[in-house]
Amino acid sequence: MATVADLATAIKQAQNLVFLTGAGVSTHSGIPDYRSKTGLYADQADPEYLLSHENLEAHPADFYDFVMQRMYYPQANPNEIHQEIARLCNQKGQLITQNVDGLDIKAGNQHVIEFHGDLYDLYCQKCGQSVSYQEYAQDYHHQLDQGIIRPRIVLYNEPINTAKLTASVATVNQADLIMIVGTSFRVYPFAQLLQYRGAAVPVFVINQEQIAAPDSVQMIQGDALKIFQELTEALQSC
Ligand SMILES: [Zn+2]
Repeated sequence: MATVADLATAIKQAQNLVFLTGAGVSTHSGIPDYRSKTGLYADQADPEYLLSHENLEAHPADFYDFVMQRMYYPQANPNEIHQEIARLCNQKGQLITQNVDGLDIKAGNQHVIEFHGDLYDLYCQKCGQSVSYQEYAQDYHHQLDQGIIRPRIVLYNEPINTAKLTASVATVNQADLIMIVGTSFRVYPFAQLLQYRGAAVPVFVINQEQIAAPDSVQMIQGDALKIFQELTEALQSC
């Protein structure tokens, strides 16, 4: 087990930080985790279908009900993890997040790749026009032309945006320190990004549970919010 002090030292020495984050960062802002027992999928018979391209095409009303009731938390605010990651990224780093909640951008992070898109980036599939969340919250039909509105997020059976994938690979390739925070690291191709790192680049993992990652990673196991509070203090104290 690595310590927070080890991580603070590594952060100070590094020039190109890269954070890879997942749901465990936003649970502390009240947004449920995708795969935990109390999470988004817990009581759903076929959650992967509900969030699939096929469901959106065949049953747009079901898709809309599901995302509106279970995924949108417009009142949620960034927490201390988003804020510390934003501060460090704006200094000398880049975040690649699986989260679609927009909280990293809300936290002021200027170096974010939203790998799976953003729930609040909405458009009409008929005319392509951007639509506000306020309009989508009223109805999933576009007022102008009755086209179906959707969020620009990656659904099951949809590919990752090629430009984002390329940018993410280049980002990981240039990193001299990688931190994986709040993710089980089981979603592909996100988890594969790690293989593009340089040979000797240290990788720290901050997560409640062990994750599927190489043995060489340095694990700081525990509550991510507490660990980040300690990290913020450690970085300020010297
Ligand atoms: Zn339209």
